[in-house]
Amino acid sequence: MSIPGESPILRTIDWRGRALSLAELRRELPRVASASTHDAESSVRSILDQVRSAGLPALRSFAERFDGVAQEQPKVPQAALDRALAELDPEIRRALEESIARARTVALAQRPEDVPVQLAPGANVTLRWEPVRRVGLYVPGGLAVYPSSVIMNVVPALAAGVGSIALASPPQKEFGGLPHPSILAAAQLLGVSEVYAIGGAQAIGAFAYGIPASAGFAGLEPVDLVTGPGNIYVATAKRLVKGVVGIDAEAGPTEIAILADASAPADYVAADLISQAEHDPFAASVLVTDSAELADAVQAELAAQMGWTKHRERVARALAGEQSAVVLVDTVQQGIDVVDAYAAEHLEVMTENAAAVAARVRSAGAIFVGPTAPVSLGDYCAGSNHVLPTSGTAAFASGLGVHTFLRAIQVIDYDRAALAAVAEHIVVLAGAEDLPAHGDAVSVRFADRGATP
Ligand code: NAD
Repeated sequence: MSIPGESPILRTIDWRGRALSLAELRRELPRVASASTHDAESSVRSILDQVRSAGLPALRSFAERFDGVAQEQPKVPQAALDRALAELDPEIRRALEESIARARTVALAQRPEDVPVQLAPGANVTLRWEPVRRVGLYVPGGLAVYPSSVIMNVVPALAAGVGSIALASPPQKEFGGLPHPSILAAAQLLGVSEVYAIGGAQAIGAFAYGIPASAGFAGLEPVDLVTGPGNIYVATAKRLVKGVVGIDAEAGPTEIAILADASAPADYVAADLISQAEHDPFAASVLVTDSAELADAVQAELAAQMGWTKHRERVARALAGEQSAVVLVDTVQQGIDVVDAYAAEHLEVMTENAAAVAARVRSAGAIFVGPTAPVSLGDYCAGSNHVLPTSGTAAFASGLGVHTFLRAIQVIDYDRAALAAVAEHIVVLAGAEDLPAHGDAVSVRFADRGATP
């Protein structure tokens, strides 16, 4: 079905007839060129250093340089939040409210219970969930603006019981240096009033290190955890401040992998690949299929749909990037091995018995099952969270959720008799590790000091 003489939109990696190990798959899978990641890292390091050492003047200079905005101070006044909500298009407000309601239903249902365990009478260990005290939520606003990301960040934070929420999004020149009004309106809908017009790596630095108060600016108190999606600079900054603060996961430029067989509708597959390529020139769109006919049909559909899609330049750059490809495999099972190694942010499964195939996948940020669950559903209105791990980090990280904003504290409550029952074992183990003071700390509690036992 590919049009003779026209070069295909996506490059093809043909792994038919090859049995690759997990390590080989990980090495050869399509990813963003490492030179781009390296360049981003060196400029982000410098941005973070300047934010830490200079504070507000550094924020001003980056707002000027990256966002074209002359900014006195970055805090958004309450009046601007009120105005944004009052002026919000009613249709957009209804859509945001539906998205909030669904996300809230899921987040509240996902709150974990404390786990009290009694090992013996008087011997208790409880896992107690506590919300993080203060969080910094990043909402992107460069090539596109994301009021949906306000919802995805704020709803689980509130469901977890976080008491102090700060939100940052890039200043927009055409809106007087404030974040986009739809972002302000979404924050106001959710009751978040500490909002800053700061973008990119500098926002992540401001959250991590704080910004001291100065004339006309009350300062930004450092947070304990930074969450939220963003471009390559935001994702790199989160990786670099990890340790100074917690982060959710590396939620960088979007990825979609589609595992499809001959039963998949080529027009759906192409539309979904384009939908995620629309985010960013670094976005990745990968089709893994055991059907060369489907691959050809998808290439033809991509060419056709790119004729009318709005952001075709951005889409074309993302689809032509090293990170995007069609991967041909022999069987759906080999396809599962490939997508497991890739650990996509978003995985769509469009095969026969899609639910059964999806159940066999072990690594992905989110799995969309069958032809009527496109990634766009999860971007806005599924009730699931769209802030998801990228760059293969789904192998060990999870998407944003109520759990992200909680810490598990272990509470140990043993009475004297319960301690006595294990005292000897503690003394023996302490001796075996040559840490006898550990044993003494138990023995001292049973030494006869004339006190009533
Ligand atoms: P953004 O807010 O992430 O980035 C804009 C900022 O990038 C600017 O304010 C500027 O400070 C900074 N910047 C731009 N060029 C720079 C440079 N050369 N050096 C240093 N900093 C620079 O908005 P965006 O660009 O629209 O990107 C949004 C991203 O979020 C996309 O990549 C999208 O795929 C991603 N996203 C990811 C998820 C996820 O969960 N993984 C979800 C939604 C969106």
